[in-house]
Amino acid sequence: MRLDIISIFPEYFAPLDVSLIGKARRTGLLDVHVHDLRSWTHDRHRTVDDTPYGGGPGMVMKPEPWGEALDAVAPPDGPAPRLVVPTPSGRPFTQAMAAELAAEDHLLFACGRYEGIDSRVVAEAATRMPVSEVSLGDFVLAGGEVAVLVMVEAIGRLIPGVLGNAESVADDSFAPGAMESLLEGPVFTKPPVWRERAVPEILLSGNHGAIARWRRDQALRRTAQNRPELLGRLAPETLDKHDLKI
Ligand code: SAM
Repeated sequence: MRLDIISIFPEYFAPLDVSLIGKARRTGLLDVHVHDLRSWTHDRHRTVDDTPYGGGPGMVMKPEPWGEALDAVAPPDGPAPRLVVPTPSGRPFTQAMAAELAAEDHLLFACGRYEGIDSRVVAEAATRMPVSEVSLGDFVLAGGEVAVLVMVEAIGRLIPGVLGNAESVADDSFAPGAMESLLEGPVFTKPPVWRERAVPEILLSGNHGAIARWRRDQALRRTAQNRPELLGRLAPETLDKHDLKI
């Protein structure tokens, strides 16, 4: 998969050389290109922002550098990537969206700063490429860079070959299927007793059916406790008759 990222802070993306994503880049599973938006400015100060029409505080990112950047990274006569624009006013980013984006061949991320990017940029881009405006949650970051790092990690780990054990994503919170609207329950490793706290006995029993049942009960309990609104979204076909009545 190819990823292009346009930002005024290319140095923000140094973490993409580390850990799973760094390894995926080195093995050729991910081809990541980070671009400095200011390369498409033409004035001495390399200006990317201006005052908002209609007044009000803050600055807005100018359309001209963004237009030139998108034309250069996704030429109008070439194959179109999907443009992903992080913004608090976008659709909420979910595991299902990460899976959809992981199936694309080419993603282009546009990192906003200040009060965001002049709205004509996305409107114009949408005439020649698919666009997703995506929100990480109901809060406001200072810029799109951190949002893109989050999305790249969530998307990258779903690309076949990136994770050592592909099965681990199937058991994750929000994984499609049985876990779709559930949070994963508690996990444990050795030693069996630590600071007088024992690992739940069932996990040492070797009884795989009973362990699966216990894990599902724990997932249902934790979801009821921390995200009760998710329980209403459990698909009836993923429920079994032994599920806890919560
Ligand atoms: N004025 C904008 C608003 O109220 O919707 C907020 C702009 S914010 C200070 C600057 C940039 O940070 C945005 O253009 C976007 O790229 C990024 N950003 C901030 N919060 C975000 C969120 N919750 N999800 C995704 N991106 C976010």
